[in-house]
Amino acid sequence: MAEKHPIAVAHGDGIGPEIMAATLKILKAANAPLEIHEVEIGEKVYLKGDKAGIEPKTWDVLRSTKAFLKAPITTPQGGGFKSLNVTVRTSFGLYANVRPCVSYHPFIQTKHPKMDVVIIRENEEDLYCGVEYRQTDDVYQSLKLISSSGTEKIVRFAFEYAQAHGRKKVTCFTKDNILKLADGEFHKVFELIAKEYPNIEAEHWIVDIGAAKLAESPEIFDVLVLPNLYGDILSDVAAQITGSVGLAGSANIGEHGAMFEAIHGSAPKRAGQDVANPSALLLGSLMMLDYLGETPIAKTIHNAWLKTIEDGIHTYDIFKEGTSKKPVGTAAFADAVIERLGQTPSQLQPAEAQKSPMNLTHRAHVTTTNEKKDLDGYDIFVEWKKDVDTLQKLVDPVQTPNVKLSMIANRGVKMWPNPHKETSTVDQWRLRFKMKSEKELPKLIEKLMDHLRIVHVEALYRYNNVPGYTLAQDEQ
Ligand code: NAD
Repeated sequence: MAEKHPIAVAHGDGIGPEIMAATLKILKAANAPLEIHEVEIGEKVYLKGDKAGIEPKTWDVLRSTKAFLKAPITTPQGGGFKSLNVTVRTSFGLYANVRPCVSYHPFIQTKHPKMDVVIIRENEEDLYCGVEYRQTDDVYQSLKLISSSGTEKIVRFAFEYAQAHGRKKVTCFTKDNILKLADGEFHKVFELIAKEYPNIEAEHWIVDIGAAKLAESPEIFDVLVLPNLYGDILSDVAAQITGSVGLAGSANIGEHGAMFEAIHGSAPKRAGQDVANPSALLLGSLMMLDYLGETPIAKTIHNAWLKTIEDGIHTYDIFKEGTSKKPVGTAAFADAVIERLGQTPSQLQPAEAQKSPMNLTHRAHVTTTNEKKDLDGYDIFVEWKKDVDTLQKLVDPVQTPNVKLSMIANRGVKMWPNPHKETSTVDQWRLRFKMKSEKELPKLIEKLMDHLRIVHVEALYRYNNVPGYTLAQDEQ
């Protein structure tokens, strides 16, 4: 009897319990050697009074098991507890989110019969840090954080994944024409790491045209490496154009553990009706078996699943008159997969016998720099509801020979000196002061506070003489 792998399992919200039951039934029928430790996270825990949506004892179970199989969780919109998916990914350092999106033509209708894309989404940074502030009556701020070290980890993982899985090309999407520092760094690190993998083609696209190309000709892409937000959005697009968002599984890999799930959410409208497609969670669980070293069982289940798809036994989301043969619900789909254990598809490419490694993080080696930093000044953000000339007159007397106001900006546009009359403004203003010593700052703040409400202060440094801040639109 093979030793069992301890795994944590959360049944989730909405359609979660139904697709998890179907997935576990298939794993059991295939004799996957798993020892299941059930945990509860999400809406139910929150409603019981735990405001984080995850109990302290659950963290202990997650720490003591080798992997976490998680059904989708409902995340309240606009308020309530933070996304527990994001909490688990970031708290456990599960930095690499692997999302294969594959067409099953001609058995599942799609406009893209040759699509076979793996999206590698960065999981720990970007806007998903969830660092947000209300600064004024009018203005809300969310911080997009990108680090060189975080980018290096994910980009390296993407190239390692491509190498280990016999892939030919890695493509990076960023918006570095606009976000010159944050996305600029992601792009720069990508180009740098790509040089270490001369056998793999590396290319970069601006995310807007890249997304359009992905939606129109996904077959030209192979492995994609994306910052968190673009990766989240584009993996749903990529999964949906294969035929259904219910077809794509997701692995979250880190140095201290891994979590496996469907890419889709809890689809509350479909809950409790035995209609949801369990394929995404099942395919996620097969990546888990690969991760645990149980590749032969993963392949057996994968082939039975492909044969079920080939036999036209389809849930509502992929059922089409003509191509499909038998409409089924969640439980009956699982039974059809179980009946086919031991069979292989005749037309679709069978799952390959070789290992498909998921645990690639031991190769990550992260470099950090320690550059020379020279102060240029500070941006001080204040609330102000009147015009810029009055603000400038108010601020003018706080200047000294060592502290000079160089610009006033509103939402990234220079408003003083020489504003465009047409620019619209909000009640948050940025005062850019040039100074060479940080000791000037407390005195300046004290003087400003006599007249204004300060909502944020940001330092302006040059790193090895390269400005670590952007100019406002139209600033010289
Ligand atoms: P969703 O992915 O849950 O569902 C959108 C639609 O896609 C559904 O109405 C349904 O028509 C279809 N769909 C999704 N999964 C399906 C499946 N397995 N079979 C058949 N059809 C399927 O997106 P949503 O409605 O925007 O989000 C619902 C909740 O899920 C939200 O609270 C959201 O925050 C959460 N969510 C959780 C995760 C996660 O746990 N990893 C991921 C995304 C969204």
